[in-house]
Amino acid sequence: MNNGDAVVEIRDIVKRYGRVTAVDGFSLTVHRGEFVSLLGPSGCGKTTLLRLIAGLLRADNGTIVIDGQDMSDVPPNKRDIGLVFQNYALFPHMTVYENLAFGLRMRKVGKSEIRERVTNALELIGLPEVEERTPQQMSGGQQQRVALARALVIEPRLLLLDEPLSNLDAKLREGMRFEILRIQRQLGITSVYVTHDQEEALTLSDRVVVMNEGHVMQIGAPTDIYERPENLFVASFIGKVNSYRCKVVQGADAEDGATVGLDGVGRLHVRAPRAMAQGEEVTVAVRPERIRLTHKGQQEPGEQASENRFDAVIDAVMYSGSMTVYLLKLGSDTELTVEEKNSTGPSDFEVGENVEVQLLAENLLVF
Ligand code: ATP
Repeated sequence: MNNGDAVVEIRDIVKRYGRVTAVDGFSLTVHRGEFVSLLGPSGCGKTTLLRLIAGLLRADNGTIVIDGQDMSDVPPNKRDIGLVFQNYALFPHMTVYENLAFGLRMRKVGKSEIRERVTNALELIGLPEVEERTPQQMSGGQQQRVALARALVIEPRLLLLDEPLSNLDAKLREGMRFEILRIQRQLGITSVYVTHDQEEALTLSDRVVVMNEGHVMQIGAPTDIYERPENLFVASFIGKVNSYRCKVVQGADAEDGATVGLDGVGRLHVRAPRAMAQGEEVTVAVRPERIRLTHKGQQEPGEQASENRFDAVIDAVMYSGSMTVYLLKLGSDTELTVEEKNSTGPSDFEVGENVEVQLLAENLLVF
């Protein structure tokens, strides 16, 4: 994509509330038709950033450009942006029809076109029958769909969504997630979505922006973020990881492998993402589902059979239907969590059993 595709260009944005710096030098370009999520823990600045794009807040520094126009002096109602919030924010005394028609009347759209666009928008969200109801006469899920339809009916150039699913129960949330994805793909509408839910961000987004304390930690496609996290914060915020401080025993240039020592356990062969000097301290991390667990003496044959194999003891077994989580002790007292998918039924490792684990270099993240 080149910058001709850019809908939103955010450059070096800083926003302070008194002594708190909520957004600290944030830059991002969102391309036409793209779905980008802002993901991070509570207080990392996601909502602040969305409100800055919408024009509800003013930045202390930096610029926001939409479709080539600097937004510094453009008020929110002139930005042509659709907004969907967590708490629906429908007008309570108006019918659904009136809620949707409101924005169109403000834009001086003719009566018959309003009728057509409202009908289409309600069909799009699968609720053609609620036109004459008021918000109180609908469930939370229905209200949230109407809020989405109200944002879409004005055909904005940009859709901003702030945790729109977090008031819904788990089952409904999953259903709505697919709805949002379907509608966004169907309309090809450029969207920025705020969430603290990792799974939501991964399933919905073309790209995810992982934030912490007002900073960008990584921007990438969902698979980049999960498979190739750039730092331990991203690795442990998206999914789970076991992580250990290790000392480099045998250094290496980038691309060659290196050997690191894990205290009380032994030596690990790792791939070196960069030059690593002997004696340097690094963090080695591994996701629980990327560890091979075998009964003692049952190692699988093959070239990698002996790579990074360690004895371990099973400390706890947590069966949860589709998978089982094992807590293991490696060496004297290093803990390791392993997850096994129960694709052919529950596995049969028991508490107290001596087992072997294999931490293949290809599955190890080094920071
Ligand atoms: P959450 O997921 O909890 O909504 P968030 O990532 O959206 O969090 P923001 O709401 O953007 O975070 O807040 C970022 C930081 O700015 C936090 O430290 C917050 O306490 C602070 N903050 C937000 N709004 C204000 C305000 N009006 N006055 C003072 N501080 C604020």
